[in-house]
Amino acid sequence: MEGTSLPSEAVYWPFKKYLGMYKRSIEDPEHFWAEEARKLDWFKTWDTVLEWDPPYARWFVGGKINACYQCVDRHVKTWRRSKVAIYWEGELGDSQVLSYSTLYRWVNKFASVLNNLGVSKGDKVVLYLPMVPELPIFMLACARIGAVHTVVFSGFSAQALADRINDTQARILVTADAGFRRGKYLELKNISDEALNLAPSIEKVVVTRRGNIPVNMKPGRDFWLHELLDDAVSYVPAEPVEATHPLYILYTSGTTGKPKGIVHGTGGYLVFTNSGYKWVFDVKEESVYWCTADVGWVTGHSSVVYGPLCHGAAIVLYEGAPDYPSVDRWWDIVEKYGVTIFYTSPTGIRMLMRYGEDVVKRHDLSSLELLGSVGEAINPEAWHWYYRVIGGERCPIVDTWWQTETGGTMISPTPGIELVPLKPGSATFPLPGVNADIVDESGKPVPAGEKGYLVIKSPWPGMLMGIHGDPQRYKDTYWSKFPGMFYTGDYAIRDKDGYFWLLGRADEVLKIAGHRIGTIEIEDAAVSHEAVVEAAVTSRPDPVKGEGVVIFATLQQGFEPSPELKNKLKQHIRSTLGPVATPDEIYFVSKLPKTRSGKIMRRVLKAVASGASIGDLTTLEDEASVDEVKRAFEELQKKV
Ligand code: AMP
Repeated sequence: MEGTSLPSEAVYWPFKKYLGMYKRSIEDPEHFWAEEARKLDWFKTWDTVLEWDPPYARWFVGGKINACYQCVDRHVKTWRRSKVAIYWEGELGDSQVLSYSTLYRWVNKFASVLNNLGVSKGDKVVLYLPMVPELPIFMLACARIGAVHTVVFSGFSAQALADRINDTQARILVTADAGFRRGKYLELKNISDEALNLAPSIEKVVVTRRGNIPVNMKPGRDFWLHELLDDAVSYVPAEPVEATHPLYILYTSGTTGKPKGIVHGTGGYLVFTNSGYKWVFDVKEESVYWCTADVGWVTGHSSVVYGPLCHGAAIVLYEGAPDYPSVDRWWDIVEKYGVTIFYTSPTGIRMLMRYGEDVVKRHDLSSLELLGSVGEAINPEAWHWYYRVIGGERCPIVDTWWQTETGGTMISPTPGIELVPLKPGSATFPLPGVNADIVDESGKPVPAGEKGYLVIKSPWPGMLMGIHGDPQRYKDTYWSKFPGMFYTGDYAIRDKDGYFWLLGRADEVLKIAGHRIGTIEIEDAAVSHEAVVEAAVTSRPDPVKGEGVVIFATLQQGFEPSPELKNKLKQHIRSTLGPVATPDEIYFVSKLPKTRSGKIMRRVLKAVASGASIGDLTTLEDEASVDEVKRAFEELQKKV
């Protein structure tokens, strides 16, 4: 298999089905993906499977399709019209069950609401909603009329929301009066009002009622959804859009202060999501599938909404926190709905591990058949607990590696094709069509057992179409480090059996509880506080969140280090970026260690923050003189 990363076939001989499919997909990707694409309903078949004009890939060019039609309309033409689409569980214990025909009715009505507000094909709509049924319904309603949705995670602050609105220049915002999180109100309308002072492009705001709290409604700008629904018609045709028409823009952190608007198209994205979902989760008609991710992340887009609904699956959508009102809330939900496929993050597992096994054993989890993990590498201890305590030693675990940019899972066991033997902590092998490899600094494949950069060597249908409004950044971020290869930003290693092990980010991006945050974003937030001159952000290992944020900051004259200042700064960063970015520790220092060229020596900071030995200093940037490093290190040691 020249040109691919798979080791000799001998290793795979028992896994003929997977290997055969993988081989075909890499040898003749266009034929392979055309076969997969025929599993969807197209209004018009494509003329060309792939136009590859590096670094831009256009899939299924000339084809016409609609994402809402795939996820809803085609099911209501079959017996699935009476099948459950969404089991929604509110944090308060309230619930709703939506069949596919109910979902159909609502997506049509919501699409009509958008039409009546003047939204049409290509317009951008920002959705800032809690985990309520209105969120997937609005996404599908946008897709129905060809509008492009941008979901902003409801845990984000006013500033983060405003930044995203300003980048999209959207005219419509959809929000709620409030959501619930751990029994407290998340006052989304108030936060939106604050954001709108900074984001003038928004002309109309649709507000759905969830918290039943009083909010300000600005006449002519703000509208209650339930009132708009009075004028909505019950059928809006699904717009056949070009396969390359953008379906959504989703923001993710990178190595600069400005989040990147990742643009995903429609046809290629749906083909990749539809096939990958089947391969990874082996979904069956009778499956009850629950992915705990918030819809505000890519996992929520592809693995809560588009992937499962393309298959007519029954999904669980839960509004609240895993441990509220009691620490067994998740297990209660698994039992209540008879969940068969459960997909979550290592952070979630580690958090619930702390409460012990008895809490789990109070529940009948015998419905579970398959478990999944996503967002960060799963440590073997958490893997074993998940397998034994949650899965009762009978459910395989699919450890799925992917990212916002890839649109869908790239490396994972694929029980929907053939289950390979699992190794706790390894995401196993690339999915068919995913030409993954691990290379060294010069772009050459590394030998088995050696760490390198994870790259993808040819385009795949779920690949991002670009970064909204910034083609140069798209080229620089993903295609310039290794020309001709997509750079993922992750370190990985392949063992002698060809299994992939993901080793975390190679760039200045942190993964806090599975959430991606650029160190520079946090540094920008820190220096926006009046007391801070300069800040450097690093992380230290955290037993639950994987990584915790640590800040080293120098202070303006007139400000003295104190616990009060530390708390104020923590609060400031939390309210600028949202709770995920809240620092675990802040160290005030008189000087940050830098190289002669002025680059902050983050590795020294990381060594200090995580209590690593001075030996780590050998890995510093080579421009730095050892003396300089030692002096800075000693100074830090004194001050920390
Ligand atoms: P996001 O785009 O927010 O989904 O973050 C993607 C990043 O999360 C990847 O680049 C990885 O660093 C990390 N990641 C996601 N899934 C896994 C996994 N199964 N194992 C290891 N790291 C993962």
